[in-house]
Amino acid sequence: MKHIRNFCIIAHIDHGKSTLADRLLDYTGAVTAREKQDQLLDSMDLERERGITIKSHAIQMEYVFEDKEYVLNLIDTPGHVDFSYEVSRSIAACEGALLIVDAAQSIQAQTISNLYLALENDLEIIPVLNKVDLPSANPEEVTDDIVDLLGCDPEEVIHASGKTGFGVDNVLKAIIERIPSPKGNIDEPLQALIFDSVYNPFRGVETYFRVINGSIKKGQNIKFIATDKNYFADEVGTLKLKQVPKKEIQAGDVGYVITGIKEAKEVKVGDTITDAKTPTTNAIEGFEDVKPMVFAGIYPVDTEDYEELRASMEKLQLNDASLVFAPESSAALGFGFRCGFLGMLHMEIIQERLEREFNMTVITTVPNVSYHAFTRKSPDKTVIVNNPSDLPEPSILDRVEEPYIKATIITKADFVGNVMSLCIEKRGQITNQTYLTTERVELTFDMPLAEIVFDFYDRLKTVSKGYASFDYHPIGMKQSKLVRVDILLNSQPVDALSALIHADNAANIGKKMCEKLKELIPRQQFDIPIQAAIGAKIISRETTKALRKDVTAKCYGGDISRKRKLLEKQKKGKKRMRQVGNVEIPQEAFMAVLKLN
Ligand code: GDP
Ligand code: MG
Repeated sequence: MKHIRNFCIIAHIDHGKSTLADRLLDYTGAVTAREKQDQLLDSMDLERERGITIKSHAIQMEYVFEDKEYVLNLIDTPGHVDFSYEVSRSIAACEGALLIVDAAQSIQAQTISNLYLALENDLEIIPVLNKVDLPSANPEEVTDDIVDLLGCDPEEVIHASGKTGFGVDNVLKAIIERIPSPKGNIDEPLQALIFDSVYNPFRGVETYFRVINGSIKKGQNIKFIATDKNYFADEVGTLKLKQVPKKEIQAGDVGYVITGIKEAKEVKVGDTITDAKTPTTNAIEGFEDVKPMVFAGIYPVDTEDYEELRASMEKLQLNDASLVFAPESSAALGFGFRCGFLGMLHMEIIQERLEREFNMTVITTVPNVSYHAFTRKSPDKTVIVNNPSDLPEPSILDRVEEPYIKATIITKADFVGNVMSLCIEKRGQITNQTYLTTERVELTFDMPLAEIVFDFYDRLKTVSKGYASFDYHPIGMKQSKLVRVDILLNSQPVDALSALIHADNAANIGKKMCEKLKELIPRQQFDIPIQAAIGAKIISRETTKALRKDVTAKCYGGDISRKRKLLEKQKKGKKRMRQVGNVEIPQEAFMAVLKLN
């Protein structure tokens, strides 16, 4: 055990975690030249295309240092806040962390939030000043920022470049010299922390774990404590670029187990694995069920595809346990599903995967957070509102509560005014303002989660010219004045376009929604009135004017094949449109409420 080092790499997004991980793998020879490619650990196509890490990954390296052989287990973590629970579990599986800071960007919001997570888990922190090759790098100043943040000596900050490989040897030396070897007892009952699971269509779910005490053996009967299920360990092994089967993985080490589990949701990140016959009495602390934060309806564009969509969602869920869904129906859209996501990025990824991997064409409706409503009749009983149409009628409604977050924003002093105005417009209340340096300011706000869902990131980027970073965590429910704004097209209410909005903003948002929908809804043979209403009261109105000419008119009596071509072309253009009554609604219209500015 004294020659094992378990570490993770934490950083703000884009500061170079995955790239530095690549260099560590090269340097230790974990990857041959043939296997080499950029951001090697980002194995999903989507991750590569978007340049982001969605899943955590683990990989083992061997490295000889001062004539001793070391085993280094690296756990790469996703940087996006939607996946922060995985970061926290990965951190709990390590004794140390490389804290990477971009030498041009310096400390950002997620640098700090991930650092706090690491410190809460008592990890040894190795600060790495990365991207020193950049012409815009500012090594002295950024080193000062790091020293201020950590209270360390400037000599402890390692200068490196994931791009050129500069400093990688010093990073490895620091990992061995500064990170403690794992403690643990091989003779105690098995206790292993699940920090990730990966769905493999051929082998079922692969569960990644860190053994804290005892050992896990091929052929052992094991038990998952939180789910209270027993399994047979068909295969255990270590995680190299390929899996390497082993007879046993002992305390201190990281590995995988395959048990024939077919569904991702049976394996819960944060759960403890133990022996089925002589179980440990201590589950590893900090297990949480991951809760969806954002809800939206997903409907097939073609109503006939409902069953196929169900099958696709079920398959996707086998693979992504954080997706939850339940059937729902909409007067406008027919049968579909109300889905829960970890955040907006997760929602986009699910929609994209449904289209790419399952060839479905779907409409996603207006996303919302989960509200708590209470009726006058039973003011203590929570009615969970995951869909605007579940909000009790105003006549029986007592009160509504909405989820709040604590937001941390780091920006330049020049933009403090802009950022504050934005946060106040988004119903935020400033709780703290700290000058980290004369240039950089940290602001904290309490804000409704719903306001983050509604177009916050883009606005923040704009008002700060890109110099603001943002992080948040939930702080509970607060009472709020919410109303449901309904949209009527051609005098028909379209329930899938309804949104819950704070009463003070409802009139303004209703008006802007009508304006936006007027832009987005294609013109047809007739005028289409667009109205926003609260209850029976119309608060705004616009009209999409009729087309002057029938586009197919010129074909009448003409060449039939030309007409067919034209119709086919129109049909293709119609992808991601839904017919509601006699009006066609494009996908963008359902997202209009998110992009009103
Ligand atoms: P992650 O989000 O922290 O995993 O960051 P990535 O490793 O995906 O890197 C983000 C971007 O920074 C990519 O475009 C990399 O090519 C680039 N990058 C990473 N490390 C370096 C470095 O040391 N120098 C320079 N110039 N660019 C880097
Ligand atoms: Mg990455």
